Amino acid sequence: MSLRPRVFDPTALEADPEARSTGGSAGAGGPAERDLEAGLRPQSLTEFVGQERLLSNLRVAIQAARARSEALDHVLFSGPPGLGKTSLARILAHELGTRLVPTSGPALERPRDLVGILTQLERGDVLFVDEVHRIPAPVEEFLYSAMEDFSVDFTIDQGPHARVVPLQLAPFTLVGATTREGLLSAPFRARFGIAERLVPYPAEDLVRILARSASILGTELLPEAAQLIAERSRGTPRIANRFLRRVRDFAEVGGARAVDVQLARETLARLGVDQHGLEELDRRILSVMAQNPDAPVGLKTIAAAVGESEDTIEEVFEPHLLRCGFLQRTARGRQVTPRGLEALGLEPGARARGLFA
Ligand code: ADP
Repeated sequence: MSLRPRVFDPTALEADPEARSTGGSAGAGGPAERDLEAGLRPQSLTEFVGQERLLSNLRVAIQAARARSEALDHVLFSGPPGLGKTSLARILAHELGTRLVPTSGPALERPRDLVGILTQLERGDVLFVDEVHRIPAPVEEFLYSAMEDFSVDFTIDQGPHARVVPLQLAPFTLVGATTREGLLSAPFRARFGIAERLVPYPAEDLVRILARSASILGTELLPEAAQLIAERSRGTPRIANRFLRRVRDFAEVGGARAVDVQLARETLARLGVDQHGLEELDRRILSVMAQNPDAPVGLKTIAAAVGESEDTIEEVFEPHLLRCGFLQRTARGRQVTPRGLEALGLEPGARARGLFA
């Protein structure tokens, strides 16, 4: 078999939907949306807003690696989509003055896919693997020696002609991003020297992110409007930026010079976003459970009822509903809480009927 080198395009990640975290409500939308999103990405640690504890840990690690002229230890970023994992991977490469080579778990189907990439890496490069929990087990095992000793044993040919060729690799940094840290095997997880979890952003951080994005987009965003959008963005910068772009559309079409709170409120209402940041699909998920609030509902049933995958429900929608206290997980499934019923406009004890067909 051939070891045909891959051509790396560091911008490919922006264009490759497979290389992105799960879409859904926190997803980056179509190609035009993704281009816009790429333009809003923070480029350096100083531009990255919030996550202070994580950033200060990274600063120390970067400084130490630089002082020792070593590759940075392997890094695992976990957390819901849209919180900045990809941005941080890019920033790491930028701060280290090295290249970022992007790929994703599902793209690495066989060990040979990985060999092609690993052998192209130069000293200190950042290999970014999005959705790292979706790497198939044989590829993951193959990665172990690459991560630990910067070497891999590669098998050429099959049957009696099979030969094992040891390949030495340049020291590199694997940066993995995952929305499902729990799905990573213990030996794999243990090989990441730095493991950081990104947490949802408080509204004041989202206000700062929105202010920066508005100035890049050339939109005047009034403080009260920024506050309103921030409060409805589920702690997620990607969602905040998406709302900002929609509000900007409405401002432009309506000939408004600046985005004020009235315009922001109207736009979000048109988008079906309520004061908790819930959108149509969140409400449908809650409604499925609200049909029988006393009995837990299985994830499969919810997924089938709303037409989304179980993964998307767990990774994209549930975290926010759990954080709001609208839903609880029990051993037998998911159950709507009295607050969740209230968010649907139902009395506690009531049942949703006919809310969804
Ligand atoms: P993830 O990889 O976790 O899904 P991304 O890194 O793709 O998230 O972030 C999505 C978008 O949100 C980025 O394009 C960027 O505009 C914005 N963003 C995320 N985190 C931050 C942050 N801390 N500061 C500023 N913008 C951010």
